[in-house]
Amino acid sequence: MKWYEHSIDDVEKKMQTNGSSGLLENIAKKRLEKHGYNALNEAEKTSPLLMFLAQFRDFMVMVLLAATLISGLLGEYIDAIAILLIVFLNGILGFIQEFKAEKSLQALKELSAPKVRVMRDGVWKDIPSKEVVVGDVVSISSGDRIGADLRLIEVKGLYIEESALTGESVPVQKHSRPLTGADLTLGDQENMAFMGTMAVKGSGVGIVVSTGMNTEMGKIADLIQKTETMATPLQRKLEELGKILIAVSLVLTSLVVVVGVWKGHDLYSMFLAGVSLAVAAIPEGLPAIVTVALAMGVQKMIKRKAVIRKLPAVETLGCATVICSDKTGTLTQNKMMVTHLWSEGKEWQVSGSGYEPIGEFYDEDRAIQVEQYKSLQQLLTFGLLCSHAVIREEKTKKGSRYILDGDPTEGALVTAAMKAGIHPKLRTSDFQIIKEFPFDSNRKMMSIVIEDQSGQRYIVVKGAPDVVLANSNRILWNNKQTPMTASLEKQVREATEGLASQALRTIAVAYKPLRSSQIPNHENDAEANLTFIGLQGMIDPPRAEVQQAIRNCHEAGIKTVMITGDHLTTAKAIARDLTILPKEGQTLDGHALSTMSTSELEKVVNDVYVYARVSPEHKLKIVKALQANGHIVAMTGDGINDAPAIKAANIGIAMGITGTDVTKEASSLVLSDDNFTTIRAAIEEGRNIYENIRKFIRYLLASNVGEILVMLFAMLMALPLPLVPIQILWVNLVTDGLPAMALGLDPAEGNVMKRPPRRPDEGVFARGMAWKIISRGLLIGIVTVIGFAYTLQYEELLKAQTVAFSILVCAQLIHVFDCRSERSIFHRNPFENFYLVLAVLSSLLLLIVVIYYPPLQTIFHTTPLSIREWIFISALSAFPMVALAGFTFLTKK
Ligand code: ATP
Repeated sequence: MKWYEHSIDDVEKKMQTNGSSGLLENIAKKRLEKHGYNALNEAEKTSPLLMFLAQFRDFMVMVLLAATLISGLLGEYIDAIAILLIVFLNGILGFIQEFKAEKSLQALKELSAPKVRVMRDGVWKDIPSKEVVVGDVVSISSGDRIGADLRLIEVKGLYIEESALTGESVPVQKHSRPLTGADLTLGDQENMAFMGTMAVKGSGVGIVVSTGMNTEMGKIADLIQKTETMATPLQRKLEELGKILIAVSLVLTSLVVVVGVWKGHDLYSMFLAGVSLAVAAIPEGLPAIVTVALAMGVQKMIKRKAVIRKLPAVETLGCATVICSDKTGTLTQNKMMVTHLWSEGKEWQVSGSGYEPIGEFYDEDRAIQVEQYKSLQQLLTFGLLCSHAVIREEKTKKGSRYILDGDPTEGALVTAAMKAGIHPKLRTSDFQIIKEFPFDSNRKMMSIVIEDQSGQRYIVVKGAPDVVLANSNRILWNNKQTPMTASLEKQVREATEGLASQALRTIAVAYKPLRSSQIPNHENDAEANLTFIGLQGMIDPPRAEVQQAIRNCHEAGIKTVMITGDHLTTAKAIARDLTILPKEGQTLDGHALSTMSTSELEKVVNDVYVYARVSPEHKLKIVKALQANGHIVAMTGDGINDAPAIKAANIGIAMGITGTDVTKEASSLVLSDDNFTTIRAAIEEGRNIYENIRKFIRYLLASNVGEILVMLFAMLMALPLPLVPIQILWVNLVTDGLPAMALGLDPAEGNVMKRPPRRPDEGVFARGMAWKIISRGLLIGIVTVIGFAYTLQYEELLKAQTVAFSILVCAQLIHVFDCRSERSIFHRNPFENFYLVLAVLSSLLLLIVVIYYPPLQTIFHTTPLSIREWIFISALSAFPMVALAGFTFLTKK
């Protein structure tokens, strides 16, 4: 028999589980050990060995190896072995970088891996999807991606979109009754939910019947397996650039060789020098270092609670010009508390704090008993009945703590009712809930069908006041259902405005008696011709740190826009508080948005700071209008309906806590704390990562220019070789490699959040970088050749080469500090970047070892230097940076 044919009891028996209390944790653990992880087999990964070998696949490295082999055969053993060693070390360095990049990307994937809500030991828990086992009882709600194959045991208006499996994009309505039929297709198995499909509406509970490769998805996993390795725009640009750089380096090194031979050097030594120079000058390690820098930046972002899901977003973040942020939970704390109530033309206040169900009700300054006011009592009771939230008391050493399980808006309603002595047990003891039409942010309301103990049925509705009011033709007034006259309606509207202008979120409650046995089939029937009861106004305090973050974004040339489903007046009051809405700033509400054409919106979108009463589809319209105005848009979202807008935005941001799986999948950034401040932090990191990448590109290329020019100048001047091949390779490995990696970890320059966003089409060499590379490279080349030529007049070649080698190394190690700033070397504290100081000191130390340790002297063709020579070397090495800083200083004046 197939799973869909079994009754729920059968499934529980077969799976040895209990639909209402779930599996025991230790049984789940045993099953996990037995059956393995609930995951699809991953595509083959490159083994570390292959990754290491790939480091030597580079054409020039192979030429170098061949040349080394020849020199070895010709008897130059020491040189050959030393070169081999350096090439090997270089390979290890490249391997470490690549391995690290791969590992961090993997870690990233795991961080954004989906979670599943299961019942274990009788309590609901969120666990990583891969730890789900057969027999687990799993809860599904709208927006979830189903984590395993389930036999449904309970459904509430559950619709599942199964196109990933069946190709059918119309969602299937699910139920939990057993089905008959020998060979039902997957699409017809309406009491099953399959791994990889997604719940688009309603909720349900199911028992896991298969996991991992045994699921229907597992059976076709090979067909859908896709590995997503996305290169960022910069990586793609660098790839292009890499080809040009290789060509240029080859031309220049050939020039060095040709000029050298023309000026009388022998072909063999020029060939070896040329190949070494080519290996050193070709920035083959650049892509790997860029990936490492990106990956390390991503790790840093994770520490600041921003999880990057798509690597290109790291770069795009630095270009963002607008952040469109949800209000509830992102800008505010999402800790709701009812403070004001309105019914029958009267307003009441409630005292208390948080979700603690203790507080008093007041009429102005006079404490009142709720029982004396029927409509108020009904407002609170029906508010409670419509809410699923549970307020839990947790005993701590200091007393009791009240914890909310569920939606904060509903938590506030439950707490308010409890303060009036209305017990949540009412939901089951005195009433039976027969049907529910769940809340959705398009309708902005929800409703339930209930039956009291006498068998009387009601519809109870709660939702946004304007929507509920529009569906009400009566109002509870003096304990009677009174027709809603224009003047009563005006009173309700004024009361709503009054609450909203105090930045309160407002919820209206209404009801309608039903004939017994009547159950409406559609929400439109249920939620019409209602009797309005009253309003509850709740505070949702802004997050304390958000105001500062908004100011920072403003300074960084980024506009913040609030998008909310809340009432316009509430939204405006909060936006003013948070300094989002400037004096001259405009606001728009959902109604205006719906009636506007795209081109009309495009005209005003730049001046709008607050969008209220927005439905998810409006968000897409806003993104498009902003993009049409040339903006790079970051947009937040949580619900399943937000996914299209998030996908369309340049940076789609999903909420880690309240966000649905579908939204997270569409997003490129997930905020693990749902906090706006995290977006600011991510943008700052994004900008800094890009700057750091620019820093080491600048450092590496200027160094390479310097190395080539030293050789070229010397050849043109008919001098001997200023650097021997092993020295060139050494400079490439130690002097270039280590500091460049440290630059990738450079802390942000003080002004990163004080400049406008980068233009997305900006080239790698923009903002004067090409000039910086060429001028620095040229100066380093010139001082090295001067040092070499001068020493050569008085000393033997070995000494002159040692001097040239030292000048080149030192000048580069000083230059690295210049690369840390867009302005000049004196704009930053050189000791700020610990890794860089460490890298520079170790490079210097290694230089000294190579010069003074006798066995290495023979290998590296060096000889000890005197103090006087070191002073000479220091002066020449420092010259380029001092001269440039002076030049900048003078030209600025
Ligand atoms: P944001 O996009 O900033 O998160 P929001 O959370 O205020 O906005 P929605 O959740 O779409 O937006 O809510 C819109 C309106 O619907 C609210 O102002 C409130 O009046 C009403 N509402 C919200 N939650 C519920 C609920 N659980 N039941 C009934 N009505 C609700």
